[in-house]
Parts: sequence; structure tokens; C-alpha cells
Amino acid sequence: MLKNDPIIKLINVQRSFMSGETTVHALKNINLSIHKGEMVAIIGASGSGKSTLMNILGCLDRPSAGSYHIAGQNTNLLKSDELSQLRLYHFGFIFQRYHLLKELTVLKNTEVPAIYAEQPSSKRKKQAKFLLKRLGIEEKSYHQPNQLSGGQQQRVSIARALINNAEIILADEPTGALDKKSSEEVIQILTELHEEGRTIIIVTHNLEIAKKAARLIEISDGTILSDSFNFKTSLKKDKKQEKSFNNVIPSKKQKKKKFFHSFTQLFEAFCMALLSMTAHRMRTFLTMLGVIIGIAAVVSMVALGNGTQQKILENINRFGTNTLTIFAGKSMADVRAAKVTTLVDEDAKALLQEPYVKAVAPMVATTTIIRHGTIVGNTSISGVGNQFFTAEGVKLIKGRLFDNNSILNRSLELILEKETANTLFPSGENPIGQIILLGKTAARICGIVETQRFGPGNNTLSVYLPYTTVQTRFLGNTTVRFITVLLAENANSHVAESAVKKFLIMRHGTEDFFIRNSEEFLEQVTESTHVLTILVASIALISLFVGGIGVMNIMLVSVSERTNEIGLRMAIGACRHHILQQFLVESVLVCLIGGALGVSLGFLVGSIFDSIQTPFKLIYSSSSIITAFMSSTLVGMIFGYLPARNASRLDPIVALARA
Ligand code: ADP
Ligand code: MG
Repeated sequence: MLKNDPIIKLINVQRSFMSGETTVHALKNINLSIHKGEMVAIIGASGSGKSTLMNILGCLDRPSAGSYHIAGQNTNLLKSDELSQLRLYHFGFIFQRYHLLKELTVLKNTEVPAIYAEQPSSKRKKQAKFLLKRLGIEEKSYHQPNQLSGGQQQRVSIARALINNAEIILADEPTGALDKKSSEEVIQILTELHEEGRTIIIVTHNLEIAKKAARLIEISDGTILSDSFNFKTSLKKDKKQEKSFNNVIPSKKQKKKKFFHSFTQLFEAFCMALLSMTAHRMRTFLTMLGVIIGIAAVVSMVALGNGTQQKILENINRFGTNTLTIFAGKSMADVRAAKVTTLVDEDAKALLQEPYVKAVAPMVATTTIIRHGTIVGNTSISGVGNQFFTAEGVKLIKGRLFDNNSILNRSLELILEKETANTLFPSGENPIGQIILLGKTAARICGIVETQRFGPGNNTLSVYLPYTTVQTRFLGNTTVRFITVLLAENANSHVAESAVKKFLIMRHGTEDFFIRNSEEFLEQVTESTHVLTILVASIALISLFVGGIGVMNIMLVSVSERTNEIGLRMAIGACRHHILQQFLVESVLVCLIGGALGVSLGFLVGSIFDSIQTPFKLIYSSSSIITAFMSSTLVGMIFGYLPARNASRLDPIVALARA
């Protein structure tokens, strides 16, 4: 670009709009050159195309035909984000309606373009204060825009236009909404900016104002009627040339930097999101509600699942862990099992020699008639080993359990279940030491244990004798019903199971037994409660999903409500990714706060459950809480994306026009 080339050059520019069925030709063949440092006034009747021209000059809009060159560069060839960069660094917009962001203070409003330019906070604050001071509204820095008069608001918008030190100021009827005095002040400011060497293009209705400019362009019906120089006001030479236009398009390096949004950018987006959330508290809360309920449901359902699982496992563990039970017969359903006589006492004794076996408890069973005084009944007799009670986790209530001698001596010692004891001794006397008749055999009661819910004879009377006693006194053989094998602590139950299987097949020659593995049972239970948890949690997830849709809904409404704000942000230099980021951050923040409240609600539900002593137990795992937070962030991102993308795809002039 040569020194005397125009900074702005329009060649045969046309702009037409489709308005229903008809095409409106807002600009028809405009040819125009403006040099650096000029002050140009554009006048014309309403609807003549002035704003359309300004929008094209400011890169908010593109020509339908013809070309627009800035500093020799054809803007037709530039991408939308490159145009944003031009607006950000080289143009300053001043609007008739000021277009200040009402949630922000005067100072913050001034800073907005500098945020997009990624100026460090301290620097941009200093610059904003400097400009506000210069424009005489420094004391209003921390006011909201609606506390200011029209003239003051317009000064704020001038300060905003200057914060990135724009060389070209575009003012579309800047005094249109101002009284005479404020108008004069604004024009005075613009004249001063011109004297500094800036290029000023101002659209006005007011001829008085227009005459202050050195050059007057009159537009009528989309064409330039006249273009005249007013020689009383001279063309200012650029005294101060701080920036050169030679490099209008950001370099690759700058672009790359843009791509990785800086931390400040993100921080500002968070601040903005918080501001707009607090500005619409009720709406924000209602939006969150879906997420709150969804997260609370997920967290407490998973906790409930965990609690239930743990409770079931505790119940199972009472029956002893790490045991194998070897039954005679092919399966539980084998009706001949009682007649299978191959599983014998010797098997148990042999198994005890194996290194992975800690204890064995053979078990035999029979039934007989029990008699104490006048009370007579049927009873099931469990013949057990001395390890039985520990292996099965049966609790002693009174007296003592069998010991080694009881088994060896085939002693006639008897242990009663509590319920059985209550039936036989209804008057409450101490049963320990009493003699009782089992069929024709007399035995002495030595202990009372808890009634086994899953034990033999749930509704009949039930007693325990040493298995050796039962074998000799009642059965007359050494056959056992089943053998409970308590495995050594470090033994792997699956390995042990196959070892036992091999061992017994070797002894018996055939597989005439089957083995139940407590670990396996435990695994099955764990798995089924796990499935249950997943099922319940996925129902809760659905509610979270519905919550997410709610967020999306409100964000879409919010975008269309804030179209004007989006248009303004784009006009003052925001790129698409800035807008995308802003709305995404907002929806993620809504969901994250919703998630935090949801987790708290989940905890509250748990403590209520605890305090009213329900049979349910809630166990919160940190992983479920982390998952809750991650999923709420994800919900925010997924459901916020569409609205945010819609926002970022808005056409700046259409968005701006929707005031
Ligand atoms: P001025 O600013 O001079 O009052 P504008 O540039 O706003 O005029 O509008 C020029 C003409 O173009 C008008 O007839 C207006 O109706 C039309 N126009 C402007 N913008 C649009 C648009 N987005 N869609 C349809 N018609 C438009
Ligand atoms: Mg207009």
C-alpha cells in the first residue's frame, strides 16, 4: 500500500436484502474512497442506506456485489473471524442506542473489547480508567449503565470504541438519541479524536453536525448524491501514527494463540456467566432444578445400591467366608442324595491333611422324636463337627460349644437352637445341664445357639449333636450328608475347589458329589446387586438427561433473548469462538452448580434415611460423586453446545438490529 492510497475503498458495492418476495436494493453501486485521517459525515434521509453502508464499512456486513478494500486488502477474501479481528483492533463503533451491556459496570463495559484482545487485566483497567477520565465520566466507573444519562452512556460507548486504540471510528447517528448539549459534547469529542489523527466516519441527520466534518457525503436511495469537501475545516494530518494498517490480518502465531483461549478469557467468561445467572436468578434456579434432581437421584440411588449390597454381603458373611461345602449326590435336587453313601467321614479326615484346608466340618442329619417332661415333638438332628459353628458363623448364646473331645468321645452333648429351647422350656428355667430324650437316647444340653434362619428345620425343632454321636447312635454308618471345608486364609477358593474335586474323584473313582463355593455365591450376590445398582442408576440418569434437555431449552431461550448482546459483542470484535465459549461456560456453570446442589441434596436424603431409621442404608462413594460432577459438566457441554453454536452463528447485523 502506498502512502497516499485510501485506507477505505469501495468499488461498485451493492447490497440487497430479501424482504419477503421482493428484493430491496439498499445500496446500488457505491464507489467511495476514504483516506487515513479524514473526517467524513454521511447524511441522507431515513431508509436511504446509511446504516447499511456503515455496516459494510465496519465489516459487520458484506457487499452483495462489488468489493471493499481496507488498506488494500479485499475483505471479500477474509473469513468471519478475520473480520472480527479487524473490528477488534482497527474499528471503533459508536451506536445511536449506545448498546451498553446492562449487567456490567461502566468500567467493565469499556473493557470488553480489551478482554477480547486478551489484554492483561491490570493494563486494560488502567487504559479504561484513563479513557473514562478523559471523557469526563471517571466518577461513574462503578455505576451501571442505566444509572447514567444518555450523553454519559454515549461517552462510555466512545471509551469502549477507543480501548483498543482503533484508527477508524464509525458512528451511526451517535447523537440521534441525545439532547442538544450532549450532542455537541459528543461531536466535540469526535472532533478531538479526529485531531489526534483518527479517521472518523459519522452518519447523521443533523446538517449542523455534518458541517463540522471536512467531507460531506450525501446518500439517497442507495446511491451517492454528492461528495464534497468543506475547506473551512482542513484535513488533519496524522500526527500520531501508533499502529500501522499494513498488517490488518493477524499472523499465524496470533491465530494459534487465539485458538488456545487464554486463561483470562475463560475467567472473564466465567464472570460474565455468573453475572447473567445472578441477573436471572429465578430462571437460573429453575434451569438448575432438573440437574439438581437428576444428580441427587444418581448419587443417592448409587449410594442406596452400595448400601444394600454391603448389607447383603454382611448377612452372607455371617455364614462364614471362604468355605466349600461338599454335598453327596449330583445336585441339590438329587432325591437319592440321602441314599448316597459314598461321602464318608474319612473323606473329611483326608481333606484336613490338604495344605489349603484349615478345618473340616462334616455334617450328618436325621430326625427323631424329642421329649422333655410332658413336651414331645419331632426334631431334626444336625450332627456336626466342632468347627461347624465357627465355619457357619453360628453365634453361641449360652453354655458352650462342642470341643475336640466331644467329637472324639462321641459324647452325648446337645446344643439347642434358641427357639427349640424356648419350646422345650417354656417356663424359662435354665436348660443348660438338663437331660433330654432323643428317641431312646438321653443327652445333656451343653449350649444354646441362635436360631439359624437358613438352617435345617426352619419350623421344626432343631438340635445339634457331635456328628460322630449321630453316626454311631442314630445312623449306624459313617456316611455324611455334607462336609463344610474352611479354607486357609490365603487359599484361592476357585483353585481349592478344583483341587478338592480332583482329590475326591480320586478317592471315589467318580464324581458322586457336588461342591458349593461360598465365594461364588458371594460373587453372584455381588453381581446381582451390582446389576440392580446399574439399573436404578440408569433410571436416575434418565432424569439427569431430562434435566439436561431443560438446560438446553432455557439456554436456547436465553440466546434468543440476548441476540442483541451477541450482536454487540460481535460488532466490537468478539470472534465466534468467544460467543461459543461464553454460552458454553454459562451452561456448564449452571450444570456444575446444579451438580453441587444435587450432591448436597443426595447427602441430605441419606441423612434423612438414617435419622428415620429405615432398613435402607446409603453409602456414598467418592467415585459416584466425582462421576456426578463429571456428568453434570458433560450435560452442560452437550446440552449447552447447540444453543451456544446457534449464538455464535448469528449474523452480527441481524443480531444488532433486533434491539
Ligand atoms: P438508513 O440507515 O439510511 O435509515 P438503512 O441502511 O437502515 O437506512 O436501510 C436501507 C434500506 O434497506 C431500507 O429500505 C431498509 O428497509 C432496508 N434494509 C436494511 N436492512 C435490512 C434487512 N436486514 N433486511 C431487509 N431490508 C433491510
Ligand atoms: Mg440507520
